[in-house]
Amino acid sequence: MNLRPKSAVRDLDRHWGQVQAMLQAEFGETAYRTWLEPLTLVGLEGDRVLLSVPTRFLRDWIAAHYADRIRALWRRVDGAIGGVALTVGPAPAASGNPPVATTLSPLARPREASATANSEAGIGAPLDARCTFENFVVGKTNELACAAARRVAELETPPFNPLFVYGGVGLGKTHLMHAIAWHIRRRHPARKVVYLSAEKFMYQFVKALRFKDTMSFKELFRSSDVLMVDDVQFISGKESTQEEFFHTFNTLVDRGRQIVISADRSPSELSGLEERIRSRLGWGLVVDIHPTTYELRLGILHCKAKLLAPEIEVPERVLDFLARRITANVRELEGGLNRIIAQATLVGREISVDMAQEVLQDVLRAHERRITIEEIQKRVAEHFRVKVSDMHSARRARAVARPRQVAMYLAKQLTPRSLPEIGRKFGNRDHTTVMHAIRRIDELRAVDAVLNEDVETLRRVLQG
Ligand code: ADP
Ligand code: MG
Repeated sequence: MNLRPKSAVRDLDRHWGQVQAMLQAEFGETAYRTWLEPLTLVGLEGDRVLLSVPTRFLRDWIAAHYADRIRALWRRVDGAIGGVALTVGPAPAASGNPPVATTLSPLARPREASATANSEAGIGAPLDARCTFENFVVGKTNELACAAARRVAELETPPFNPLFVYGGVGLGKTHLMHAIAWHIRRRHPARKVVYLSAEKFMYQFVKALRFKDTMSFKELFRSSDVLMVDDVQFISGKESTQEEFFHTFNTLVDRGRQIVISADRSPSELSGLEERIRSRLGWGLVVDIHPTTYELRLGILHCKAKLLAPEIEVPERVLDFLARRITANVRELEGGLNRIIAQATLVGREISVDMAQEVLQDVLRAHERRITIEEIQKRVAEHFRVKVSDMHSARRARAVARPRQVAMYLAKQLTPRSLPEIGRKFGNRDHTTVMHAIRRIDELRAVDAVLNEDVETLRRVLQG
């Protein structure tokens, strides 16, 4: 470590304080406390700032997510700084030897060219050509999972091991795994990627047992650089397979190979899995994909429409309709769009909301929304700062009448209730009053941007 005049050391301390404050402001309190607070300033090494972290995992995580920003911020407060390096371990005493630092960049270590060609060696499952990162639409609910998957695909040294992705059915877990495989095949063809379902893994294993050929089975997996096992909830229970899976897993991790796992639930919820395996699965990075939001569904529909039928223009209103009505998962959403496009191309029908409603009758019925009129009234009242009782009252002042009309309008849009039913819930009003309210709000939305925004916001809030 350089011997520097005392003032320089003081500067370094002061600069670190400034960088920390900026990091805190930029990433927020929670992220800062979780990831960045454990960083300790060690000193300077040449023109690089040396920071220490308590664990390898933290080092990898920070290297993957924050290193660029730390470096950039530091250079902002001190242009003489060339870079930032992370080291694992407690900050050494001032007189100690400089710790061995891991330079943040380049992250990849050189790798011997693998003799295995870019093949699945007969054990993997085929990859869906459409499941690439380019075709994966990112939103709040899946951005962490997607970022982690990209990291894994881009780096030759596992940034976290294993990467464990979990979430409900049809939310993109398999898509992300295929995307990792495609990316590596294209960019690092020498790396051997094996993707398969947990079921296939078990099947292969049982087959190998039967033919007394477990050695080559082991070698097949153990020679892979990246092993991805989809839907591991299906492994639970079968003891010998669990054992084998665990051995394979450990061997690969020990050899510095990347493992990616998916499941429909978190490691701790994987019942039927041995405790030591369960805990081992949670060692790396565990990320979940949450249910979709309206915005994400709309984004995905735009993307899929372009992929499926670039020559067909699916009206925005139809996409909006689908995004609002098919909320369970992306697979169903995609299925709905497929059917509409098929109708249009095969039968030559014009695509409209009415047509979509008719073609998708069965799917839509299954998704009958459970938003209640009471809920709508409460939200709308909150939004416009009126009393819930005003939703039922006879008051006709604009300040309460307009919110009431908005609530009726939303009730018609978001619930399957009929006009008379809605009228009854709004202080026993006549259905013609409800009809008038809906028409009025429709008209106003076209000319009043503020009101339009109000309605949109409320709809989004109500739909979760
Ligand atoms: P899972 O494995 O989680 O059950 P899949 O990865 O099979 O779900 O996704 C179901 C379908 O939805 C696939 O066709 C996939 O391409 C699509 N899909 C899911 N999420 C997205 C997304 N964010 N962007 C684009 N397509 C998606
Ligand atoms: Mg899947």
